[in-house]
Amino acid sequence: MIITRSSIDTMKGPAEWFTGDVYIDAVASEPTQSRVQANLVHFTPGARTAWHTHPLGQTIYVTEGVGLCQKRGGPIEVIRPGDRVFFEPDEDHWHGATPERFMVHLALNEVDEGHSAASWGDHVTDEEYLARG
Ligand code: MN
Repeated sequence: MIITRSSIDTMKGPAEWFTGDVYIDAVASEPTQSRVQANLVHFTPGARTAWHTHPLGQTIYVTEGVGLCQKRGGPIEVIRPGDRVFFEPDEDHWHGATPERFMVHLALNEVDEGHSAASWGDHVTDEEYLARG
């Protein structure tokens, strides 16, 4: 049994990966040979990921606020607390807050020696972000 007290600082989401202010708390990142990565990700209103893929897929579970997600070529979907989204391996997508609300989700990723958690692409432009029908 390993207890990790609340000691890891909240990380600011890097500007290469996100638009707007995003804060990340590590939930599960040990032991180093673990294939599971979990993060609690806090998006401020208007903040979102860049377009990206997950080589081994990703599950997000919304815990607070109102969010948006979209796979490449699909409609922008509204997601709310209790909603769970699975992104298929290598499915190009983004997720984030709505323009008016915070959104918090738990993100669960698989990793191994040959696969990182995510592969990052272009930022989601304002035009793409605001294209909600
Ligand atoms: Mn993702």
